[in-house]
Amino acid sequence: MRTLFLAGNWKMNTNSVSSINLAAGLVRELAEIQNVRIAVCPPFVYLQSVSASLCGSQIELGAQNVYFQKNGAFTGEISCEMLIDCGCTYVIIGHSERRHILGETDELINLKIRAAAAAGLKPIFCVGELLEERDKGQTFDVVERQIRKGLDGISPEQAAAVTIAYEPVWAIGTGRNATPQQAQEVHECIRRLITEMYGSETAGNLTIQYGGSAKPANTAELLAEPDVDGLLVGGASLKVEDFAAMVKTAAAIKK
Ligand code: PEP
Repeated sequence: MRTLFLAGNWKMNTNSVSSINLAAGLVRELAEIQNVRIAVCPPFVYLQSVSASLCGSQIELGAQNVYFQKNGAFTGEISCEMLIDCGCTYVIIGHSERRHILGETDELINLKIRAAAAAGLKPIFCVGELLEERDKGQTFDVVERQIRKGLDGISPEQAAAVTIAYEPVWAIGTGRNATPQQAQEVHECIRRLITEMYGSETAGNLTIQYGGSAKPANTAELLAEPDVDGLLVGGASLKVEDFAAMVKTAAAIKK
């Protein structure tokens, strides 16, 4: 059985005070939740202070990006070891904003996933199609290419630590979420692909999150789908009451 997993991607938001307030508010609101995996992914510069605020709670810490080299002359970059040192369990890799605004390629994303897996960080590996790709009927081809290239060289043991987040680019930050049926259709294909690549046990245990304008009002219907195992949440993760409501909704769902 898969445990539902909700992760908040704070993106380039919050400051030194509001990041701590947000983390502390979630710790307070979610103290009683036991059957949902929860993580928050603040900006790099607030990882340590948020980590301290989460101490003793079940909310885990993730970063929004990582570089694949261990150390050295890579100005501005952050290594897996540094993230672990700051208390991170997870790292988001291949987010569409990094693919489409910062120009990250499938090859670079693969190097990052390999580095994270080798270091013992759990990747939240984002995939998803652009609107024009969906309109041309290319959704599954795009997602399959991203997954095959992203997981190239990843062993079955390493794959077991990976969460895949299906995030249709047209749904991110737009207020227009994929319908539960659209999400389910792609999640089912992803699980079938992982079965082909790694076998049915790994695929059966794989957490596949949906991301794209998820909010309290659509959480229950999205999570009701059999292959939607959680949510990667942007905008709605910046408000304690919204993200806490989503986690509580998840906790009440029996699959
Ligand atoms: C995201 O950034 O991963 C995301 C899904 O954003 P939003 O929830 O704001 O659409």
